Amino acid sequence: MSRPNVNFCLRCGHALEDALHAGRMRRACPSCGFIHFDDPKVAAVVFVLDQNRALMVQRGVSPELGKWALPAGFIDYGEDPREAAIREVREETGLIVEVSALIDVLGGDSSGSASIVILFEGRITGGDLKPDDDVTEARFFSAAELPFDQMASFASTRLLIDRWLNGA
Ligand SMILES: [Zn+2]
Repeated sequence: MSRPNVNFCLRCGHALEDALHAGRMRRACPSCGFIHFDDPKVAAVVFVLDQNRALMVQRGVSPELGKWALPAGFIDYGEDPREAAIREVREETGLIVEVSALIDVLGGDSSGSASIVILFEGRITGGDLKPDDDVTEARFFSAAELPFDQMASFASTRLLIDRWLNGA
């Protein structure tokens, strides 16, 4: 799903046109010179282990409604990515974590809702497991219990689960 065109100037309201800017086609305003840039949406995903079981959430929203994924969400404008990771885990699962590692950064994907995904590892420091926000259930899975047939197809979830199963 690519983004729809932006049709009107955010600064003056004039209709935008396609225009070549520094070698790339952009939406530009012929009236005031404003150039629209599609900024990436950035998400944080958190892998949390407890007694060698992985924390997963069942999604209560699209995409991948009803599927199991790792706690994740969009980073707000101006928000520290680590703070966003901690916030998402708290909102979705009730657990308090600290970020213990930066695992990877995925990018270049224009098919989903986030084009850059930052993968963190979190360590539980408090809280009580209770699903909330946009998830319907939150629980820990041992490697043998993982819900592969109901797992979200997000590259981030697959990568982190594979990494865990491969002993990283
Ligand atoms: Zn304009």
